[in-house]
Amino acid sequence: MKIIKRNSSEEIFDGKKIINAVTKANNASEKKYLTNEQINDIAEYVEYKCGKLGRAVSVEEIQDMVEDQIMAKGAFPLARNYVKYRYNRSLIRRSNTTDNKILTLIECNNEEVKQENSNKNPAVNSVQRDYMAGEVSRDLTKRVLLPPDIIEAHENGIIHFHDTDYFAQHMHNCDLVNLDDMLQNGTVISETLIEKPHSFSTACNIATQIIAQVASNQYGGQSISLTHLAPFVQISREKIKREFLAELKEMNVIIDEQKVDEIVEERLKKEITKGVQTIQYQVVTLLTTNGQAPFVTVFMYLNEAKDEQQKKDLAMIIEETLRQRYTGVKNEKGVWVTPAFPKLVYVLEKDNITPDSKYWYLTELAAKCTAKRMVPDYISEKIMLQNKIDKNGEGHCYTCMGCRSFLTPYVDENGKPKYYGRFNQGVVTVNLVDIGLTAEKNMEKFWEVFDQRMELCHRALRCRHERLKGTLSDAAPILWQYGAISRLKKGEPIDKLLYGGYSTISLGYAGLWECVYSLIGKKLTEEDGKKLGIEIMKKLNEYCAKWKKEESIDYSIYGTPLESTTYKFAKSLQKRFGIIKGVTDKNYITNSYHVHVTEKINAFDKLKLEAEFQTLSPGGAISYVEVPNMQSNIEAVLKVIQFIYDNIMYAELNTKSDYCQVCGYDGEIEIVKDNDGKLIWECPNCGNKDQNKLNVARRTCGYIGTQFWNQGRTQEIKERVLHLSNSVLA
Ligand SMILES: [Zn+2]
Repeated sequence: MKIIKRNSSEEIFDGKKIINAVTKANNASEKKYLTNEQINDIAEYVEYKCGKLGRAVSVEEIQDMVEDQIMAKGAFPLARNYVKYRYNRSLIRRSNTTDNKILTLIECNNEEVKQENSNKNPAVNSVQRDYMAGEVSRDLTKRVLLPPDIIEAHENGIIHFHDTDYFAQHMHNCDLVNLDDMLQNGTVISETLIEKPHSFSTACNIATQIIAQVASNQYGGQSISLTHLAPFVQISREKIKREFLAELKEMNVIIDEQKVDEIVEERLKKEITKGVQTIQYQVVTLLTTNGQAPFVTVFMYLNEAKDEQQKKDLAMIIEETLRQRYTGVKNEKGVWVTPAFPKLVYVLEKDNITPDSKYWYLTELAAKCTAKRMVPDYISEKIMLQNKIDKNGEGHCYTCMGCRSFLTPYVDENGKPKYYGRFNQGVVTVNLVDIGLTAEKNMEKFWEVFDQRMELCHRALRCRHERLKGTLSDAAPILWQYGAISRLKKGEPIDKLLYGGYSTISLGYAGLWECVYSLIGKKLTEEDGKKLGIEIMKKLNEYCAKWKKEESIDYSIYGTPLESTTYKFAKSLQKRFGIIKGVTDKNYITNSYHVHVTEKINAFDKLKLEAEFQTLSPGGAISYVEVPNMQSNIEAVLKVIQFIYDNIMYAELNTKSDYCQVCGYDGEIEIVKDNDGKLIWECPNCGNKDQNKLNVARRTCGYIGTQFWNQGRTQEIKERVLHLSNSVLA
């Protein structure tokens, strides 16, 4: 009789192995639960049963039978020991796969790692070092740091415990950098005191240094606000004027004051150009210790300025930022292409949303920039003030931390709203589709399983929280001691920042679309489907509210970006439930509350519908519409932007501008199937399929990626339908 080993090779059945394993577990117990005779019986019985099956049996099946037999003999504690023994053995095997993973990634043969992060190039030495550290962290997380049932749920795709590659260290997810405090009150970078800068361009330079440092000390995204740079425009203006007047005096020239101011403003503009250029170029060219460009978002919010003069200065910085982004950056061939970073977020407000408003010209420029470069994304001040209400009943408008995670409203001990300097502890995502399918269309069972899964997520989130507890400020001085987040003392633990709503912790969710469809066969775009979808979202919120109340930890619902996890979830669902039409028949599942990418729906209906769900996703979410090349139809882009202002808090437009290095084609690079059915990218003009000679930029999860994607995500990109056609809006 043959058995199938774990590496898929066959082996002759050997009953002695069973006797050995059970005897070991028996000897390791406090008392001997079984006699040697009983153990022999078990081995004989299992052999007999395997023989009766008439096929090769797997090691796992045999171990299950052994477990059953131990229990049949009433030796329950021994059965538990045996399970533990099995588990430990599997950990030893797993540590060997870590060796393999590391070796294959160094030789560039690890497909999984290759496609994991669309902004990391795994052929590069520094990225490989980061990935090696990541593998060690994953291994420790699985074997030592997390309870086995959470790891099991993670591996079976029931939940996703994010960022296990960083979990071994005491690192958090993302934050809003308190640039204002750092620039105004000084900071310390690499043990060097950096005082308040004396010009705009120096302030920009310091800002990029800060971004790089912050990015190396956390694993998620960060955001900075241009408002914090605006005061330095006035400082530069005064400085330029002083210097210019001194020049004139030296040359004995007299010019009238108006002319002086004109020349000063001209020189000031050059200074702003230089400063903004520093940020754009530094951010895309920097490689942090994580082996990638910093995941940074730049916030552009006129109303955040202190007074009218500062607002004007801020408008100048925003204008220059948009102009430079519109131009793009040069690729290695010297062609202007779409950079992935920084992400830009532009706030729509009274002052810039109608053609007769003062800063409408900025919104027009933003629309042009979005059409060509996919950014900026848009926040509606109007909707956000309704959505983000603090405990005093006041609405607030502020930026996300990185790509989509939002803080919850918070007022400090002086009753003042506080956003900059706050952060997110981390994410655990629940696979809603798995709950739906486990329930087998039975709603009662659905809520039962839902409750169990919530408890699982809760425990997993607690592990994240506990991992951060006791972290000393010395772990990341730039964050905890020198102002990016706080000004704690050396050696002080960060614990107080983990409670009372100062930081959030995120309960992510994915696949609401497929979950609802699996239960009642309705789409979120149908009345009944929407109703159930909203009910599920409310339930997620109820859970977070309950935990928050009990623990004073700010649990918040988060529309997970799901980067490569979409593929993992889809594959796990297929394995567990088979192929079910409309639910598991794709290699991806739908992000957060989003309408399925293949669903035909126009941009306005989509945004309107998704706005209702977005309100129920306070820890973070973004909606998008997929559009064709709209560079010759800016009017239509502006119509969408105005619709966003009136209807949804946070949304983006996915446009396309790719480049083929072989033939110089500038348009949309397409996805085709190769002979083996694998999805690959191809230039529609010359047929070039070499990824190294194609510049493709797509937004997948809030951030723009430029290093290609795994098969699941690629299929999702291929199947996206357009939500807007130029003709509809003509
Ligand atoms: Zn081409």
